[in-house]
This record gives sequence, structure tokens and C-alpha cells, in this order.
Amino acid sequence: MSSELDRLFEHLRFASISTDSRHADDVRANAQWLVGQFEGMGLETKLHETPGFPVVVARNEHVEGRPTVLVYGHYDVQPVDPLELWESAPFEPEVRDGKIWGRGGADNKGQHFVHMLGAERTIKEDGALPLNVIFLIEGEEEIGSPNLVPFLESHRDELQCDIIAVSDTGMVAPGVPTLGYGLRGITCLEVTIKGPSGDLHSGVYGGAVANPATAAARLVASLHDGEGKIAVDGFYDDVVPLENWEREMWEKVQMKIF
Ligand SMILES: [Zn+2]
Repeated sequence: MSSELDRLFEHLRFASISTDSRHADDVRANAQWLVGQFEGMGLETKLHETPGFPVVVARNEHVEGRPTVLVYGHYDVQPVDPLELWESAPFEPEVRDGKIWGRGGADNKGQHFVHMLGAERTIKEDGALPLNVIFLIEGEEEIGSPNLVPFLESHRDELQCDIIAVSDTGMVAPGVPTLGYGLRGITCLEVTIKGPSGDLHSGVYGGAVANPATAAARLVASLHDGEGKIAVDGFYDDVVPLENWEREMWEKVQMKIF
């Protein structure tokens, strides 16, 4: 096994499940391991404590006038239940059929580690990176990054950048370099619809009193029109429409969904 794959496997062996307090030490150990990797690459590295899990920030020596790219990633992973559905232990990565199996390999340790290796190789071959680079790897993405925004606000100056490369994305197919842009967000809400506390006679109340299930169905249905477009007022105000060159490019992509 190549030493790079070895190191990725080391990364994947940390059971860095941020949702489970029993794994808090594993999450922290994983952050420390990242610090060691970045320092090994010769980057100036800091482990920033937060009220939750640490944020690891590493940077090369910045040169005035060069663009600054910030690479975002996260070292925490999703829980692993149900365990019986795993063919191999989640934190004992292995290669089967040309694929790496191990929790976090595709979200997001594999991706940000590839970015790190790219930087490392460039430094080895060329002596330095041609850009100002900041790596920011957090440990709370899977719990909604509660401490990331306050961290960004309090470190605004040192995190100034021209481009943010979110490494927490995928490739459209193996071997196809992919630049993901225009990522979607997500909004979650809980809606409670209250109805009568007992059965109401249909002959007396039918049609006049709304059934909560019908009201819920109406609510949900009102979110989209018949074409699947979102029907919430103002939703598309800041959305840039897809251009023709983008549609043409997408037609050429041989998607392979895993
Ligand atoms: Zn992710």
C-alpha cells in the first residue's frame, strides 16, 4: 500500500463521530492527527479550541498580491448504525472491488485529504505552492457546525480569502475532475397541525372542519408547483439562472451515481 493510502487509512481509523459523546476523545485525537499532517507538510498550523470540537487551520506563507484559496473540510463523520449492515468494520478501512470501504472515506476525509496531498506534492516538487492557501478543517459538520460561524466571525481577518473550495463534495464519475459550484442549502422546520381531539361525525362536520392530514398535505403540496419549481415567495430572488453553456456541459457529463 502506498504511504499516501496508509495515511488516509490512519485518518479513517479515527471514530470521529461528533454526534456521540462517547467518541469525543476520538474526534479530538483526529484533530491532533490532522495538525501533525499539516505540520509535516511544512504549513503553519493551529488547533483552535471552540466550545465544541476544535477547528484546524493550516496555511502556507502568504505572498502579497497572490489570490488566496481557502479549502474547507470536516474531520467528523456520521454515526455507523446499523452495524450489521457493514461488511467490514466501519473504522477498519479496506479496499474491496477497487473501492475504499470505511466511515468518512467519502464524507469528508477522503476529499480533504486529497486536497492536502495535492498541496503536499506541489510543495515537494516545486518547493512552494503558487497560491496563498488556507486549510480549514472543522469537527462539527455532522451536527450542523454550531461553532463554525462564531469562529469565522472572530477570525475574519486571518481567514480572508478570494475563493473558498468546499472539499465536502463529490466527483461526477471516477477519474473525472469535478468542480462543484452552486451548492444547495437546506432548511428544516417542524410544523404541528392541531385538529379535533376526538372523532367528528362526518354527516355533521364533514367538509366544514379540516382534517389535519389534509391540511398537512395541502401545506406540503403548496411548496412546489406542478413542474417541481419551488413556489415559496422570494425563494429564487438570489438564485442565478442556469445558462445554456451550463446545460450543454451537463449533457456531456457521464454521471455515475454511487
Ligand atoms: Zn460532509
